[in-house]
Amino acid sequence: MDYSLTTNGLCKYYKDFKALNNLSMHVPKGAIYGLVGKNGAGKTTLIRLICGLQRPTAGEFTLYGVKSTDCKIGKTRRRMGAVVETPSIYLDTTARENIREQYRVLGMSSFDGVDELITFVGLENTGTKRVRNFSLGMRQRLGIAIALCGRPDFLILDEPVNGLDPQGIIEIRELILRLNRERQITVLISSHILDELSRLATYYGFIDKGSIVKEISAAKLKAECRKCVHLTVNDTTHICPVFDKRGLDYNVISMTEVDVYGEIKAGDLVHALDEVDCETISIHEKNESLETYYMNLVGGGMDA
Ligand code: ATP
Repeated sequence: MDYSLTTNGLCKYYKDFKALNNLSMHVPKGAIYGLVGKNGAGKTTLIRLICGLQRPTAGEFTLYGVKSTDCKIGKTRRRMGAVVETPSIYLDTTARENIREQYRVLGMSSFDGVDELITFVGLENTGTKRVRNFSLGMRQRLGIAIALCGRPDFLILDEPVNGLDPQGIIEIRELILRLNRERQITVLISSHILDELSRLATYYGFIDKGSIVKEISAAKLKAECRKCVHLTVNDTTHICPVFDKRGLDYNVISMTEVDVYGEIKAGDLVHALDEVDCETISIHEKNESLETYYMNLVGGGMDA
């Protein structure tokens, strides 16, 4: 497989504290790679190292075939755009002026493409409005536009939907999908909001205590997150033998709720439960969520 970014034994220590501990990850070219981890897992630290904002204590990464220790890494980083933490933008000017300023910083020879970029991120109607008066979602989209000025083929977004309202989240999500599909940009996106990532990611890297504990494609993850049927009944006391007899895997959640895994014929099951005086109140299919998968992988809740 062709990778935009790989890391090998990357470490970042703050005195004795290991913010990154022997971290190895692989971002396939063309992927939307969801970097999933609790608060404090090391997501921002990793991104800062890749962007060259901090130096690793040990280990290395390879960006488009160029090692982080190679003197060509600075030039290679120009293939990459990033929005890390809050986007750096000038609040007292317009979206257009911010983008033109980034063109100047990058030493671009003309302002070609500025209008197209503004339209692409959906800020074409902001005119003379100063960024100070933009919503958080508009600022985030402007941050992405600025990161796109150098026409990167790899974009890194650190928690891009943090603090956004539902509409803002949808806009950023659609923008990321369009960047990936229409411009073939590889995207590394960090988040602790698993549900949000599950709508975007084609690959996942689960990070915990500074290490990647698992990398998996979205397709494989979907297969691993087993389908299950959630039953609400009047009483689960005598329910177990019914499932055991049929060789079904199940999880009794409470006195009235049970999850049953595998291929199930709902009608037959309701009938069998009825025979042990267990009345079925409701039955619906659900997928084991990404969050449950993650918690099984690393344990605990999402916030450290
Ligand atoms: P969040 O989702 O909260 O941003 P994160 O996964 O991005 O979390 P990091 O910001 O990378 O986590 O932090 C990883 C760990 O490193 C945290 O425990 C943090 O307190 C610690 N850390 C980060 N920067 C420093 C620093 N400059 N000095 C000491 N410890 C630090």
